Amino acid sequence: MEQLKQRILEDGTVKPGNVLKVDSFLNHQIDIAFMNQIGAEFARRFAGSPVNKILTIEASGIGIAAICAQHFNNAPVVFAKKSKSLNLDGDLYHARVESFTHKTVSDVVVSKKFLSPADHVLVIDDFLANGCASRLIEIIGQSGATLEGCGIAIEKGFQHGGDRLRERGIRVESLAIIEEMSDTTLTFRD
Ligand code: 5GP
Repeated sequence: MEQLKQRILEDGTVKPGNVLKVDSFLNHQIDIAFMNQIGAEFARRFAGSPVNKILTIEASGIGIAAICAQHFNNAPVVFAKKSKSLNLDGDLYHARVESFTHKTVSDVVVSKKFLSPADHVLVIDDFLANGCASRLIEIIGQSGATLEGCGIAIEKGFQHGGDRLRERGIRVESLAIIEEMSDTTLTFRD
């Protein structure tokens, strides 16, 4: 998506540790009109997929998922919660997740009430780096729901999480894929 690439080039900054900061429009301050353009683009790409639920992960996925859901007939948004508690009760699906930005490991949980075999789920997230989305896919597998694919705003291609999902036959639609990133250069995959 050309507008997203332009926005990254104009407003993004690269921080040590391969972190791209896009907090002026995507995941701290949120540009709502721009998120609607992103939602419309996901809807265009997944037209024909019977998406009836959107799954993301707290915290930064929630804003983008909630706006994008309006482009999928107001499909409900479920967000996986990060939980430090090991006392997981039987009413939860859960998977282990490592945070790239915070270097922590936690469980993510989703209530069994909100995902079932009747659901056709689109995973939406702001970033795909090493592949946290695969944990959400694990949860979808536990629930028996159908995974329609993943809609990602920014994929860091050089961390290969997206490629691993594609190798598994999962449909991953990333609106901007960064191939290389440094203080001075940022290049996108075609
Ligand atoms: P992954 O598990 O795919 O490595 O990363 C998952 C999460 O880490 C993303 O949803 C995002 O919140 C965060 N993340 C990964 N890389 C970056 C980055 O370069 N910049 C920002 N702002 N967040 C990132």
